[in-house]
Amino acid sequence: MGASSTCRSCGHAGLEPVLDLGRTPLADRLLTATQLAETEPVYPLQVAFCPHCSLLQILETVPPEVLFCEDYPYYSSFSDALLRHSRENVLDLIARRDLGPRSLAVELASNDGYLLRNYVEAGIPVLGIDPAEGPAREAEKIGVRTLNTFFTAELATRLAADGRQADVIHGNNVLAHVADTNGFVGGIATLLAGSGVAVIEVPYVKDLIDHREFDTIYHEHLCYFSVTALDHLFRRHGLYLNEVKRLPIHGGSLRLYVEKVERVGDSVKELLALEAAERVDRIDFYRDFAQRVEGLKTELLALLRGLKAQGRSVAAYGAAAKGATLVNYVGIGTDLVDFVVDRNVHKQGRYMPGQHIPIFGPERLLTAQPDYVLLLAWNFAAEIMEQQAEYARRGGRFVVPVPEPKVV
Ligand SMILES: [Zn+2]
Repeated sequence: MGASSTCRSCGHAGLEPVLDLGRTPLADRLLTATQLAETEPVYPLQVAFCPHCSLLQILETVPPEVLFCEDYPYYSSFSDALLRHSRENVLDLIARRDLGPRSLAVELASNDGYLLRNYVEAGIPVLGIDPAEGPAREAEKIGVRTLNTFFTAELATRLAADGRQADVIHGNNVLAHVADTNGFVGGIATLLAGSGVAVIEVPYVKDLIDHREFDTIYHEHLCYFSVTALDHLFRRHGLYLNEVKRLPIHGGSLRLYVEKVERVGDSVKELLALEAAERVDRIDFYRDFAQRVEGLKTELLALLRGLKAQGRSVAAYGAAAKGATLVNYVGIGTDLVDFVVDRNVHKQGRYMPGQHIPIFGPERLLTAQPDYVLLLAWNFAAEIMEQQAEYARRGGRFVVPVPEPKVV
């Protein structure tokens, strides 16, 4: 653990620096009132590009037991959009792959069972794997069998030896989080049945760079994938990226269909060609990113300071990891934002890391009626604005920070 100078995927030693976000606290480490007086651990947050396999990555690896086990506050079921997105994905797979009571669907980082519950409802056996205790307990309550542990190559070998191979393996927003990238992908190859498919979702690095989504960079996200980088990674483990879909979720994601048989479809060929044409597979594409991120910081600070100068009050929505990166990098403290609201009851009553902004439930927007709400969770902007229609009706306005800070 600690800082590495070699590529997480291919081991190449000559990584090229792209962006330095400084030393920041862990984005998911929300603080209790008593923790406010303690010194918060901070870790360097530097992004680099591998010219050998095209993988964008951060250099620091914070031990996973520090990141994910201790009081991890993320519960997937708190987003309606995410639930809908997952359900449609599962129903599509059940139909396309003809899954039934003899099939097995596995999810890596199954959280509170938000996705696998759709298989359970259809009578298809499932196995969730997740190291976070609270969410794993919630999953068991709704009938989603869950192993409360990390997915590793060793676990995959044990399951396969027990005759448990998966017809579908889901991994949503987990591949970018694992420290042992090759062990994880190797484990998928072991656990996957010969005719099975791994359906993996990752944020897309092209969207990150094009739309200045620097706040999706934090210590939990070790890798930022292009199709080119993924193709290299999977092939090293005898897996083939055969189909890919671009999705709008989380600011732009890829859904990958990975199999043991090579039959690369047009969707993959087209994105590989697009990445070559736009030089996503070269350092050129990343060179001015740091400067563009700096520009966003200047614009957002000017907007918020302007509002404060006019005597306006500002709150924020979304105590998620990306919000923590944004407030800490831009330098938004309680001088600019009075409080943050979040639907997740596990986050309410706590404080944002670094800037120590207090977190309340969304009803506070109506009792306090701030003039503006900064949407830290801009990836769910439409859903949040819909839920907060009453706040808007009473004259409240929203500030979207990314890709261009603006009042909507
Ligand atoms: Zn590499």
